[in-house]
This record gives sequence, structure tokens and C-alpha cells, in this order.
Amino acid sequence: MKVFIIGGGASGMVSAINIRRQNHDVTILEQNAKLGKKLLITGNGHCNYWNELQDLEKYHSNNIELFKEIFIKQKDKVLDFFDSLGIVPKIKNGYYYPFSNQATCILNALINKIEKENIKVICNEQVKDIKKIDNKFIINTNNKVYECDKVVISTGSLAGIKDEYLGYQFAKDFNHQIIKPEPSLVALIGNDSYYHYWDGVRCEAKVSLISNNKLIKEELGEIQFTNYGISGICIFNLSTYFNNNVTIKINFVPWYKEDNLKEWLNIQNNKLSNYSLKQILEGFLNYKIVNLIFKLLKINDDAKWEDINQDKLITYLTSFPFKPIKTKEFINAQTTKGGIPLNEIDINTMESKIVKGLYFTGEILDVNGDCGGYNLGFAWMSALQIKINN
Ligand SMILES: Cc1cc2nc3c(=O)[nH]c(=O)nc-3n(C[C@H](O)[C@H](O)[C@H](O)COP(=O)(O)OP(=O)(O)OC[C@H]3O[C@@H](n4cnc5c(N)ncnc54)[C@H](O)[C@@H]3O)c2cc1C
Repeated sequence: MKVFIIGGGASGMVSAINIRRQNHDVTILEQNAKLGKKLLITGNGHCNYWNELQDLEKYHSNNIELFKEIFIKQKDKVLDFFDSLGIVPKIKNGYYYPFSNQATCILNALINKIEKENIKVICNEQVKDIKKIDNKFIINTNNKVYECDKVVISTGSLAGIKDEYLGYQFAKDFNHQIIKPEPSLVALIGNDSYYHYWDGVRCEAKVSLISNNKLIKEELGEIQFTNYGISGICIFNLSTYFNNNVTIKINFVPWYKEDNLKEWLNIQNNKLSNYSLKQILEGFLNYKIVNLIFKLLKINDDAKWEDINQDKLITYLTSFPFKPIKTKEFINAQTTKGGIPLNEIDINTMESKIVKGLYFTGEILDVNGDCGGYNLGFAWMSALQIKINN
């Protein structure tokens, strides 16, 4: 079978290797000058390609049960696959990186394998449209027209790219649905007037995402406060759940039991009896955050602990409300939620249920993961799951 893969990114390259192992003639068409451009910027250039903690909760899809079928079959095969390419991992808190700490190491290993397997690679080749006529696919690019028996669409998503993106259009042309793609693993924007007070602060906090009075997700780690809202890995992980109903509560004192904080501040106040409240708070909190809370609660700079509404202060310290109104744009996002629904795909082969001979892998599908190697994780798993039907 003559198989063409559209997109030489993470999932396209692994799809090519997997399909070649099934003894087919494989060609990758890639619009960029080189394969794996995005792979090189993953994990800040270190490529966090997998995570030791493979938990279904780290992945999101409107058809999570179908994702689970791919997950169960492939999760134990990914590391064997990278081992077969000669990759030696370095594991940091469960996060897998290549031991060299360089994304080029993963990319070169994939390219070496592609060369050894005689997989054809045509770069600077942007696919414009794909048609199926009788049993053949006709692929139009910026340069040429190609004909083949099977097509794998591995074009990724809009996340983090400036280029024109046609992947969803190909799927729509074949009558696939697209669950509205939205940026994920991305910063959250609010519209309060006080962000200049906290702009530039990075501090450890616990953030909780609440929807309809229900706690949806909690994260603990470094939060970046900016002039548009909040960012950082914890916020990225919450961004997957963004909609117009959600609120985020920020606990600036996550290391202290909330119930006892008032009691502890009483003790601190007695111990530091000639200190103002501001001076006491600055003993454990960034001064810009203290300033902001004082402005919002209209507390005088020289106020003492006894002078203020203590319960209100405790609420602002432990449940500071942030109302996101939108996420940052796709260009700032690491992944996309939404895409082609898994129920339109035969999960055992990754073949379209609508068009025979058409396959999908990677981020174009409706699966997205948390930070920590889960998005590349899905790219690899979906690519290893492909089985070309004769
Ligand atoms: C800044 C950043 C950091 C990230 N860090 C991590 C990380 O550390 N760990 C992790 O797990 N995930 C990370 N991700 C997410 C991860 O990169 C993606 O989930 C993964 O690359 C998706 O693989 P894919 O093959 O589906 O798509 P891609 O890797 O995006 O590949 C798609 C390929 O298709 C090509 N293409 C698209 N359209 C056409 C066309 N019409 N014709 C020809 N070619 C086409 C593209 O040029 C591209 O090369 C990060 C993402 C970003 C943006």
C-alpha cells in the first residue's frame, strides 16, 4: 500500500515508522523546511516526552472511554519504542526527558529511524486539499499532485503556531465533525483594574477552579501574576476547564492550615508586638500582594492586626477571587482542546469511520493532556495504535 502522512510532527513521524513496520510504502509531506519543528520547542527545548504517572485523569476528551482503549493498549509500549530508538531517559519528578536534556536528541532519533526505514520525506510541501476518487486519494500541495491508497492526517493543531492551519478543513471536507477547538495549557485573562499591583510577582500558591460552587480542580505550585491575569504551569492545567462560569480562588498561604491561620496570625502579632500588620504579612508574602490586598480591603498602611476586619483578610489571603474572562490566544497555548471526535474513528486502527483508508493521529483529535509530557504522550500512543487495513 502506498501511504501518505500529512504532517511530519511528533505523531506523523511515529505513524510513519509504525506503518513502515507493517510493510507499506510510506511518504511524509511536511509544510515546514524540516521535520518536527514544534518538537524542538517542547519542554523549553528539553522535550518532556513522557510521564511516569500514567493516569487517565491527566487526559481530557469528550469520549474519554474511547481514549481509554488506546491508552490501555499503548501506554506500556511508548517507552519500549523510544528504547528501540536508543533514547536514554532522564527522569525528574516523574517527567521524562532525553538524558542529553535536548529536544534535538528525540527529533534526531526519529529522523535517523525514518531514514533507516527508507521512509520518503518531502518538506516545504504544504497540502492544500485531499480528495478521494474511487479507491485512491488525490493530494494537492503547493507544488504537486500526489496519488496514494491511504492517507494519515497528523497535522496537529493551532496551538503555538503562526502558520496557516488547514488540518480541520481536510477533516470537514470528508464530513467529519470538529468539536470546537480552544486553546488549552494557556494563561488566563481577567478584566480587573488592579493587575498592575501584582504584575511580575511569581509565588507559590494553591489555585482552585470552581464552577457552579463545585471544586473542579486544584493545583499547587508557582503562579505567575501578570498585567493581564495569571499564568504558570498550575494555571495552564486549570485552563483546560475554562468556561464563562468558572472562578479561581488563590490561596497565598498554602503551607498553613486555613482553619488555623487566624490563630497563627494572632501568635505572630503577639510575638511581633511593635510591628504593623503589613510588616507581619511581609514576613511570608510578596510585598506587592500585601499591597494589593491592603488597597482592595482599604486597610491603612500602618494598621495593626487588631484594627482590621480579620475574617475578611483571611478570606483574601486564602481564597483570593480571580474571575477569568478568556484564555490567551492559540499562539500562546501548548495544546488544543476539541478537534475530531473519537467516536468518528475506529479506535483499534485509527481509521475514519466515515472514509475508508483515511486515518488520524495526534492533536487534531479530541484528546488533550495536562502539562508533564501527556500531550506528546498522546501523539506517540495514537501513532503506535495505527493499523493499516488492506
Ligand atoms: C511551546 C510548546 C511547548 C510544548 N511542550 C510540551 C512538552 O514538553 N511535553 C508535551 O507532552 N507536549 C508539549 N507540547 C505539546 C506538543 O508539542 C504537541 O501535543 C505535539 O507536538 C502534537 O503532535 P502532533 O503530531 O499532533 O502535531 P505537531 O507536532 O504540531 O505536528 C504537526 C505537523 O503537521 C504539519 N502540517 C500541518 N498542516 C500541514 C499541511 N497542510 N501540509 C503539510 N504539513 C502540515 C506541521 O507543520 C507540523 O510539523 C508543547 C507545545 C508547545 C506549543
